[in-house]
Amino acid sequence: MKRIIVGEVMHESSSLAKYPTEEINFRRTLMWHEKEDVFNLCKIRFRDYLTGIMEGGAAIGLEIVPAFCAFASPSGKISQRCFESLKESFFAGVDDSIPIDGFCLAFHGAGVSESEADLEGAFLEEIRSRFGWETPIVMTLDPHANITEKMIKNADLLVPSKLYPHIDTYETGELAARFMKTLIEEPDKLKMHVEKIPILLPITMGCTDNEPMKSILQYCNGKEKIENIKYSVFVQGFPYSDIEDCSCAAVVITDGDIVLAEAAAKDIADYVYDRREELRSDCLSVKEGLDEAETYITEGKKIIVINETSDNPGAGTPGDGTWLLREMLERNIEKTCIGAINDPEAVQEAIRSGVGTTLNLLVGGKTDDQHGEPVRIQNAYVKSICDGKYCILSDMTHGQPVNFGASVRIQAGNVDVIIASNSYQIMDDGIFSLLGIDFREYNIIGVKSAQHFKAYFKKFTDHIITVDPPGISTGNLETLNLKKIKRPIFPLDF
Ligand SMILES: [Zn+2]
Repeated sequence: MKRIIVGEVMHESSSLAKYPTEEINFRRTLMWHEKEDVFNLCKIRFRDYLTGIMEGGAAIGLEIVPAFCAFASPSGKISQRCFESLKESFFAGVDDSIPIDGFCLAFHGAGVSESEADLEGAFLEEIRSRFGWETPIVMTLDPHANITEKMIKNADLLVPSKLYPHIDTYETGELAARFMKTLIEEPDKLKMHVEKIPILLPITMGCTDNEPMKSILQYCNGKEKIENIKYSVFVQGFPYSDIEDCSCAAVVITDGDIVLAEAAAKDIADYVYDRREELRSDCLSVKEGLDEAETYITEGKKIIVINETSDNPGAGTPGDGTWLLREMLERNIEKTCIGAINDPEAVQEAIRSGVGTTLNLLVGGKTDDQHGEPVRIQNAYVKSICDGKYCILSDMTHGQPVNFGASVRIQAGNVDVIIASNSYQIMDDGIFSLLGIDFREYNIIGVKSAQHFKAYFKKFTDHIITVDPPGISTGNLETLNLKKIKRPIFPLDF
């Protein structure tokens, strides 16, 4: 039986975030597992790249040898100390596992540490230096990967998933395991070409259910109907990492035909570049968004979800932005709720005050000066408290442990506000229901997320409104302090 090392070091790093990411960021997500303990992810029925690799690989007769798994919610650049610790834990798992027939890894593709702009490239290069060029390496990537020359040079295959929201991660892991088996049996069988595309795609435009991404996805899928093309994908990139290699890309994998892979990837790149004007972000302001919501309400609609895309913790923001919160409190529309504002200080004050009491709270806007001023809430009623822990209910990364930390629900007039101790994107209604909120009974639900919330909430509503006030995950890329990205690039220079 062929033995493959599987492992994950998954982090999407925003160079715009104020604070570095430390080991605690990884450990508190309950997603730090060493060696055999990585199998725990299968036991909890977590569906993501790594469990897809492990279960898919085992099903086709590969011996799965887990080295290490670490995931942290997106945040600032990884500190040097944390980066060293991740490498140490990963390679400790690998070194104990010799002999090795291949590596099948699940990384993000937009990991940045204080010393290393290309985390994935650094890991791949080190694997090559320790285990040579004969051992095949396959690495799955998030669609928000910034693919670098170092990654292309050192991996045999890079396999990004296709959909945003990322509901195809498990299947991408299974596919990577099948590619791995092929490469072990026939080392020259599969060839990859990566074509970089000089476009920065804001996360506001990335949803593959909407145009123009829907057509781009179909165009790539169409390539797979060509004989010998095994996989064809458009990669969105992650501008907020602000490294030289931030950009979109096309990746094509063929049955041994490098010329075909290159031609197909270049054709996808041309197709997308020709449609670039459609990729400019165009979202509503908070005021416009709430006006639209109020119009829906006068028409008798409810369950109107407003997402504040510019403070999306899933892109490394502080999660304490107050633009949407402030306007919702001022309008005081009946049956309104918002979650989750990251403010551990306010949580502790509310807990000290106690369930059933009222207090005055200063909420949010405390991390930096990019996401609005703190909001003073008078007579906030403390309705409920919880530990903020649950497993994701959405089809996307189903079963993944989430840890908002100690969280409270306060009521201010008609508005229920969820305040949490950790910065997390809203993927589903888990934190709402833990605190006793059934969102289906609400007119307006404010969430901090760019796209992933849709994988869950779209089942319950046709009324989603994206608002984009200032913030470090805004779609208005020209407003950001991006310094290192290779220029010229669309849309910054056009
Ligand atoms: Zn992503």
